[in-house]
Amino acid sequence: KKLSLLVCGGAGYIGSHMARMLDSYGYEVTVFDNLSTGYSKALKWGEFIKGDLRNPDDLDKALGSKKFDAVFHFSGLIVVSDSVKHPFQYYDNNVTGTLNLLQAMRNHGVNKFVFSSSAAVYGEPVMDLITESHPLAPLNPYGKTKLYVEEIIADYATAYNFNSVSFRYFNAAGAHPDGSIGEAHRPETHLIPNILLSSLDQGRKLKIFGDDYPTPDGTCVRDYIHIQDLCEAHLAAINFLETAHGAHSFNLGNGNGFSVLDVINAAGDVIGKKIPYEFEPKRDGDSPRLVADSSKAHNILNWTPRYKDLREIIETAYRWHKNPVF
Ligand code: UDP
Repeated sequence: KKLSLLVCGGAGYIGSHMARMLDSYGYEVTVFDNLSTGYSKALKWGEFIKGDLRNPDDLDKALGSKKFDAVFHFSGLIVVSDSVKHPFQYYDNNVTGTLNLLQAMRNHGVNKFVFSSSAAVYGEPVMDLITESHPLAPLNPYGKTKLYVEEIIADYATAYNFNSVSFRYFNAAGAHPDGSIGEAHRPETHLIPNILLSSLDQGRKLKIFGDDYPTPDGTCVRDYIHIQDLCEAHLAAINFLETAHGAHSFNLGNGNGFSVLDVINAAGDVIGKKIPYEFEPKRDGDSPRLVADSSKAHNILNWTPRYKDLREIIETAYRWHKNPVF
């Protein structure tokens, strides 16, 4: 039997890649999205239900529209600096909205959940390669919303026969290799899209936020994980939840740390030109270094990222950015 899956946030960057992959594997896909940051042009896979997590009636209608086997939740606000300035919006959408979603799932008898968490739950790194047992001490409201939801889900698992996987994403990057969907945010805040946009538009100077972090070149180090690899872990989670009980958290990264300057240099190689930049003050809430130990996902979900080379990841992002479709 084809499993029926609800993809909340399926019009966004990660959600649209996920909807596409699920569809290609023969799952029945339904996307739930308010189109606040997603794109209607990305709604090419599955049925679309427009609705908002903050409105319980929308969720009741969506969950009541058919019998879902599991829910994927990508509908998060994700801009760290905005979460510092506008905590209400972040707690309202990311925490209250998710609680509404969990309640609608209970009301409609759906007990399998795959949640998009974040490496932002860890805060200041005390390990070179961060495992899931690293202290959970988010540096900003965004990271706190992810942590609180993980805790809520764990309580659901204890009380309500609720089974879940939370994926702590490191830096999702790249695009489907055919170049038809990609990463775009309004306004764009992410490093790789900003590098590509600055190379395509001379008027858009690339800014590097901070030059005196305690890292080898003074810029922040991150672990860039290809979107297709990230989505494949979610496929593995569906199989895992067929038999697993309780709440489980997994890192998703590829274990290689690259500084902002490393990424700019790699992008310069891909594009074939030098990318000018200027230094700006640090952004609020940025961690100096976030690099994953993903061996738990490897061992338990049998997941291994295929894209190891940063240039290859940037190449797929560039393919879409040269000819973006919104
Ligand atoms: N960054 C930067 N310039 C930009 C965008 C990002 O220097 O235009 C830096 C940012 O400070 C962080 C890294 O690049 O150290 C990755 O940022 P991004 O927003 O892509 O992801 P985050 O790690 O914040 O989730």
